[in-house]
Amino acid sequence: MKAAVVRAFGEPLVIEDRPDPEPGPGQVRIRVEASGLCHTDIHAAHGDWPVRPNPPFVPGHEGVGLVEKLGDGVTHLSVGQRVAVPWLGKACGRCEHCLSGWETLCEQQINTGYGCDGGYAEKMLAWADFAQPVPDGVTALDAAPLTCAGVTTYKALKVAGVRPAQLVAVSGIGGLGHLAVQYAKIAGATVAAVDVTDDKLELATSLGADLVIDARKEDVGEVLRQHGGAHAAIALAVDDAAFEAVNAGLRRGGKLVMVALPAHGTVRVPIFDTVLNGTSVIGSIVGTRQDLAEVFQLHAAGQTKVIRETRPLDSVNECIDEVLRGQVRARIVFDLAAGW
Ligand code: NAD
Ligand code: ZN
Ligand code: ZN
Repeated sequence: MKAAVVRAFGEPLVIEDRPDPEPGPGQVRIRVEASGLCHTDIHAAHGDWPVRPNPPFVPGHEGVGLVEKLGDGVTHLSVGQRVAVPWLGKACGRCEHCLSGWETLCEQQINTGYGCDGGYAEKMLAWADFAQPVPDGVTALDAAPLTCAGVTTYKALKVAGVRPAQLVAVSGIGGLGHLAVQYAKIAGATVAAVDVTDDKLELATSLGADLVIDARKEDVGEVLRQHGGAHAAIALAVDDAAFEAVNAGLRRGGKLVMVALPAHGTVRVPIFDTVLNGTSVIGSIVGTRQDLAEVFQLHAAGQTKVIRETRPLDSVNECIDEVLRGQVRARIVFDLAAGW
């Protein structure tokens, strides 16, 4: 099988031929149909974060495909079934976090495309208990971005406790942000979308944003405060200053939800304003299996639209450059069913 491999941080990915991986006990092998390019894969390939993967590795945590082989003990999935393999490749199932509905915080977790090989390949392995069945009515190409961009932003809005009639700022209308806008609308919020490209601001409007803010020309905090301040700000732009800009636009009691993970990211939070205004800063990491099931359910019900461009996997290095230049119409999905 072919796979796109990170051999060294910061180097172009290399397309390699590898033997088909053999599923161990509790695992399945999947023939990948579609695989999304999350900005996290770029951070992984660049070694941007304090905890780094170990090259060589295959990135990708938005892999979707058909189960083709069952490992020992797997009884609840069947050959031919469509599943998605998210960032949370495996969690222990026994710790305080796993037992209290926070499996995404499990310290024993293994992350797909980071701690084990991911979806930039014709075939991949997954732990069957964490391979999410994709319902009928959700295509593989749509399921891919929902598997990380969807579940992560859906969860971020849950964490913010967004309620109808609240003002939600979404900063960064990329792969994650275009879905965040839609989940905020589903929750009944008024949505302010922030970005630095005209295309992304237009996209946000077409997806239901009530207000757009061009961070190149406008003072984001000031505009939000003119609208009474945001009850929640979802920080998705890969830029430290963008976090500070939306934080300055919170209303009293508002919540900044940190999601993006810029390399060496550090944010200055003014103590006086935070204390006097009673605002919160919260980190939010992907979502649980139940969150992903809900994301798929909403999409199957026609409530969300996935905006994507499909590409062959052998163009992965050019695709990474396009994402870094902010030129992608929301999400690139490698269409493995269409070949290379
Ligand atoms: P993306 O590149 O598709 O989107 C980023 C968007 O931010 C682009 O539209 C870009 O134009 C916009 N932007 C750039 N500078 C800006 C600024 N100053 N103000 C406003 N917008 C600006 O990336 P993505 O795939 O959506 O991922 C976003 C980030 O979220 C990445 O750092 C990724 O690693 C992280 N991430 C976190 C989680 C999590 O669980 N916390 C999950 C997935 C991704
Ligand atoms: Zn991701
Ligand atoms: Zn655990």
